[in-house]
Amino acid sequence: MDYKKLAEMLFPDIKETVTYYENDIFPERNLPEGARVTRLAPSPTGFIHLGNLYGAFVDERLAHQSDGVFMLRIEDTDEKRKVEGAVETIISSLKYFGLNFDEGALLDGEKGIYGPYYQSNRGPIYQCVAKYLVEQGSAYPCFCTEEELEEIRKQQAEVNVNTGYYGKWAKDRSLSLEGVQKHLDNGDEFVIRFKSNGTEEGTFEIEDAIRGKLSIHENYQDVVILKTNGIPTYHFAHVVDDHFMRVTHVIRGEEWLSTLPIHYEIFKAIGWKHPVYCHTAHLMKMDNGSKRKLSKRKDPELGLGYYMDLGYHPAAVREYLLTILNSNYEEWRIENPDSPTDDFKFTLDKMSNSGALFDLDKLNNISKDVLLKIPEDEIYEFLLNWAKGHKPEITEILENNKEEVIKLLSVGRDGDKPRKDLMYCEQIFDFISYFFDKHFKIVDSYPENINDEEAKKLLKLYLQTYDHNDDQSQWFDKIRVISHENGYAAKPKDYKKNPDMYKGHVGDVSSVIRLAIVGRSSSPDVWELQQIMGEEKVRRRIENIIK
Ligand code: GLU
Repeated sequence: MDYKKLAEMLFPDIKETVTYYENDIFPERNLPEGARVTRLAPSPTGFIHLGNLYGAFVDERLAHQSDGVFMLRIEDTDEKRKVEGAVETIISSLKYFGLNFDEGALLDGEKGIYGPYYQSNRGPIYQCVAKYLVEQGSAYPCFCTEEELEEIRKQQAEVNVNTGYYGKWAKDRSLSLEGVQKHLDNGDEFVIRFKSNGTEEGTFEIEDAIRGKLSIHENYQDVVILKTNGIPTYHFAHVVDDHFMRVTHVIRGEEWLSTLPIHYEIFKAIGWKHPVYCHTAHLMKMDNGSKRKLSKRKDPELGLGYYMDLGYHPAAVREYLLTILNSNYEEWRIENPDSPTDDFKFTLDKMSNSGALFDLDKLNNISKDVLLKIPEDEIYEFLLNWAKGHKPEITEILENNKEEVIKLLSVGRDGDKPRKDLMYCEQIFDFISYFFDKHFKIVDSYPENINDEEAKKLLKLYLQTYDHNDDQSQWFDKIRVISHENGYAAKPKDYKKNPDMYKGHVGDVSSVIRLAIVGRSSSPDVWELQQIMGEEKVRRRIENIIK
């Protein structure tokens, strides 16, 4: 068979050669020894999830730790999955979490000399490589219709062999040039299939940078590499792009392991070296005592929008992700409590290959620690910024009460045992909302041993003795006196010794006061809060209850 002639018949308009792209258009990158070139290659479906962020994090760390390049390529060959604005969402979401691309499809246009970075604009490049494969006898046109393919499947089922287009079943493998010409003259649609040399029994070995040495089954199917409209399939497009974009490491989810044999064989057939593959484990969660994959349908926390809508601080999410990305991260953090996360040396061999467990409670705990290290005025700015985008109705009160909000955020954060009240913006606002009359509500109830009438009596006494200028101990002494005079132990330990002698203890009385002023049974120090709220507001809150 004259493959050159076949290639000309199929791709008469493709004049460029692989060597031309190789040498003149996409030359080797001039980077320091050991530099890694990575890419995030999402489809623009509009949904960007934690798995993308997890992978992107690995991409970014590998590239930036080695003075390499972190690139964004948009895999938009599937028209049906394209969503307007999806690329902006990808870029802005990753930027939110501190991941910035060096090259690729960026917001203000494409950056870099290895583009176009949208696969939909790289048609001639794929066609050129496909033509090359046809010339080598490693690819061929297939004119089979859906019905014919169905018929092949039926026959295969009857004789109980694997279904698919391969070996002797791949009937268009043997089309003559005349046969092809006839189809072309007829205007018949065709795909280009890769001609596999693999066998059903064959295996090969490949090193995965996360999983170690893998021994896997060869590909033996003649997969489609160009669809009828000349658009490449993922299998083919990513091979061509990763090669010409000089990508050194491909980080992608473990769902791609099953088709790795196809990619491996295509690389081999073209004569290119494949990049280092790094297949990350699925993100899992505990559900009713068993581990399962995070699901788009069941778990809102899978989407990155979830974290932005609730206002998680990017530093907290980064910190948390690192704990699930590298098993030695937490140890490093204990030894280096104040170092920036980027000082940690991220490595692929410390990644889990059996499912990374995602735990929202742990994220919240980490968030508390991370926010504790961020100065209050920065948290205020972060909160205000979040409000502008996600809760515009509170921006005005945040702006008008800047000084007080910063003070509220700071209560109890000093000392040996600092309070860790702050987790994410939505919760932070809720946490300080008692300050604003418009948002104040009593959400908890009095201690069990105190009814409404008793509470009113205690609050009346509190108001009578209240002096806004009292210092903290003068203030608390007065509460002890009220307690003592009304049958409550002035010290909890006295109550514990003789519970029958008292109605309760000073803690119960304080709870009543806390509830009247803050609306909740637990809060930072009430005296400090009162100082921030001001005398007038404190008195008004009590009066509203006792009237
Ligand atoms: N476009 C593929 C996806 O959406 C990318 C896989 C890869 O990174 O190679 O998952």
